[in-house]
Amino acid sequence: MRLTRVLIVGAGHAGGTAAAVLRQYGHEGPIVLVGEEPIPPYQRPPLSKAWLKGEVDAGSLALKPPEFYAENNIDFRANVRALKLRRSNRLVVLSDGSVAEYDRLILATGARAMVLPIKGRELKGVTFLRTTADADQLKAALGPDKTLAVVGGGYVGLEVAASARALGAQVVVLEKEDRLLARVTCKALSDFVQGYHERHGVNFELRCSILGFKGVDGHVAGVELAYGRVVPCDAVVVGIGADPNEEIARDAGLECARGVVVDLDARSVTDHNIFAIGDVAHRPMPIYDRMLRMESVPNAVEQANQAAAAITGRPRPPGECPWQWSDQYDLKLQIAGYAFDADEILVRGDPATAKFAIFHLKGNQVQSVEAINAPLEFMMGKTLILGRKPVSKTKLRDPAVSMKEVGT
Ligand code: FAD
Repeated sequence: MRLTRVLIVGAGHAGGTAAAVLRQYGHEGPIVLVGEEPIPPYQRPPLSKAWLKGEVDAGSLALKPPEFYAENNIDFRANVRALKLRRSNRLVVLSDGSVAEYDRLILATGARAMVLPIKGRELKGVTFLRTTADADQLKAALGPDKTLAVVGGGYVGLEVAASARALGAQVVVLEKEDRLLARVTCKALSDFVQGYHERHGVNFELRCSILGFKGVDGHVAGVELAYGRVVPCDAVVVGIGADPNEEIARDAGLECARGVVVDLDARSVTDHNIFAIGDVAHRPMPIYDRMLRMESVPNAVEQANQAAAAITGRPRPPGECPWQWSDQYDLKLQIAGYAFDADEILVRGDPATAKFAIFHLKGNQVQSVEAINAPLEFMMGKTLILGRKPVSKTKLRDPAVSMKEVGT
């Protein structure tokens, strides 16, 4: 009997993990892992944090040691882009002129940084942060005598702001909403984070609309705001979100909704031979009875496990509580769940101590928790979210009551 051939398109966190887990789960057939970047799968989170600050080297970003792929009989092909998916022939046309046939295809093409369609975006010094190549460019632009303008006050932008301050650069964050992290968190956390950054010397321009980038000799020199105001800078990093790389799936007729629509096995709802995992997938989240696309490492790993389990005929792994993290200065933010339909916000601990947690509740159920230097609140918060168990708000609010007791 011929062994099942698995083709993985996209050699990022999700694709690299899927290849490894397939072997771990005993898949014996061929695995081809195709990626358009020049290096094997690596971790992106340090690009805005430890790596940018120079605390870790490039080698430490690798998901697996370089020899891992050959040792595990994984045919990793760098610098190769998948151009077209032909479902009727079960093959993918690749940019090196070859085609790759599959029995099971895993789409792990991730997402790309959103572009601001404004004048001056082609100037040197206007950067994004998605790949190691982007990160190299950004790092070269930072230093004590430089000013960095960060467009977008989301997690990645704020991490870059903190790292740039650590490198001695002046930093101004430009945000179109009236508060930071407006799409993802509550006002209490936005205010706390802004205050923390201000104490570290970051300047903010909120409610600002950016008209374009101004350049001198082809290099960015400022950001043009409404009414002719220009914020001078030596470099810009644009961090306004990401778009899923779903084009080859959509062109091949797979159902997409800002992400390839998949089921609880990470399998496309249109074609049972195809899976989509990580940032490119629009997936069910049963604890909220919703579909959503997530951009986080835990999500990439969870879905890689789902796809590998389905392909190797293993039971579906138990559902996990979604979570992610962000490091800024000495703050460790850990975020579990989503505040969908929350009707109450409860703060445990004192924000003035920079060790507290914000719980979002729907009735007596915890929907999400944002923990700042508060790992116990984060850990138990995850358990409460996943368990859908009602909690005592009186206990939850009182830091003198242990999280263990809150959870019982
Ligand atoms: P990616 O890692 O984007 O990998 C997709 C790969 O597919 C890429 O290499 C891409 O080039 C390739 N590709 C795309 N199209 C094709 C094609 N047609 N052919 C071949 N290859 C293709 N998450 C957290 O949980 N915590 C954090 O602190 C955190 N920090 C982050 C900081 C930064 C700067 C960034 C950019 C992301 C951060 N994330 C963080 C998000 C996390 O890195 C992503 O959720 C994760 O990388 C998703 O993995 P993925 O494999 O789905 O996508």
